[in-house]
Amino acid sequence: MSCDPFEVVREQVTAQEAARHYGIAIDRHGKALCPFHNDHRPSMTFKGGRYRCWSCGASGDSVDLVRGLYGGTYWESLQRINQDFGLGLPISGEPTPQQRAEAQERQRTKELHRRFETWRADTINQLTACIRAANAADWANLTPQEEEAIRQRERLEAMADTLSHGTPREQMQLFIDRKRVALSISSILKTSQMK
Ligand SMILES: [Zn+2]
Repeated sequence: MSCDPFEVVREQVTAQEAARHYGIAIDRHGKALCPFHNDHRPSMTFKGGRYRCWSCGASGDSVDLVRGLYGGTYWESLQRINQDFGLGLPISGEPTPQQRAEAQERQRTKELHRRFETWRADTINQLTACIRAANAADWANLTPQEEEAIRQRERLEAMADTLSHGTPREQMQLFIDRKRVALSISSILKTSQMK
């Protein structure tokens, strides 16, 4: 058994089990109303011990879920699950300096991941709007923004496709190049505002 308590909790309590335990109703399709945004149709799914909201992009394991629901630190969320599920891990006191450092590192990674997910969702929306403008354009009467969208459509479609289905490495590459991506999009969206 791993000695990293985060690892142990992740192995023993899935996000789905935690969701049930803390009062989130899961329907017969395995979906739930997301507690992290104003969800009217169940947008949250569970897989491989993790949860994911397909609407707001929230995702993580059981510890992330509990922290999202109750706030506090990762360490406190870990202790809550340890206690509520009777796991008996010796983590009732303050974390050791190493455990504290690990928890902080985890929080940083998580924050970066959250920023990436937000960026990805926004960018896909904007790309889709550009592609739609290109597809719907009246070819006899093109606005400057439609002309630009048509010219760039192939590239925009490739980017949207990568952000939806690409490998993590491909997606990360676009994230690193995000200024360039934003420039392509804004050159189209900006002219549309000038219309
Ligand atoms: Zn959500």
